Amino acid sequence: MNFKDAAKKCEDLKIQRTIKALHKNNIEGYYAKDAEEAIKTFRSLVKENSVVTAGGSMSCVETGIMDLLRSGAYDYRDRERSGITHEEVQQVLRDAFTSDYFITSTNAITENGELFNIDGNGNRVAAISFGPKEVIVITGSNKIVRDSEEARKRVKAISAPANAMRLDCETPCTIDGICRNCASEKRICCTEVLTGFQRIKNRIKVIIIDGDFGF
Ligand code: SF4
Repeated sequence: MNFKDAAKKCEDLKIQRTIKALHKNNIEGYYAKDAEEAIKTFRSLVKENSVVTAGGSMSCVETGIMDLLRSGAYDYRDRERSGITHEEVQQVLRDAFTSDYFITSTNAITENGELFNIDGNGNRVAAISFGPKEVIVITGSNKIVRDSEEARKRVKAISAPANAMRLDCETPCTIDGICRNCASEKRICCTEVLTGFQRIKNRIKVIIIDGDFGF
């Protein structure tokens, strides 16, 4: 076997290990070979005309799932629609807790079948933990890490600084990409949640796409 094929096999095995571990934690895992397949799986899981909310997710944008949410097929409560007021945004964030589906990505996913997320507002980790009837997580295989320790390192080294830059947070990490455990007004690392074994079987479903999506 040449190196490229061997590397691909290792990647495939890692994804399969992670899906098995998710299953043990009562979280359903789905493999998608590309964004197109991820959308197909998404459509099979999320009923049309249902009430849908979403956390901020670059993976949803990159895969085209955000466009699908805005297509009119769902009762999508869009906190980014033009002209929305601050009060209306707050209402949409609260709507997540009574929605049929909450759509999000994850900052990292461990080979032990756990999701690891860090939030500024906390609305995303709150909705993953409790509220919406179902949670659909879209993630690239680039976010798979060995365990929770590695997950935290990854988020602090990549996801949080990159998100802070994307959102113009003016935090120290937006200058040099290094986390200084800041006390900035716009800090995006206020709440950390490790989502492990779930009491409600398959309330959380994870679509893992082979490849790099989000950060
Ligand atoms: S704690 Fe502050 S400096 Fe560190 S990654 Fe989060 S926002 Fe950036």
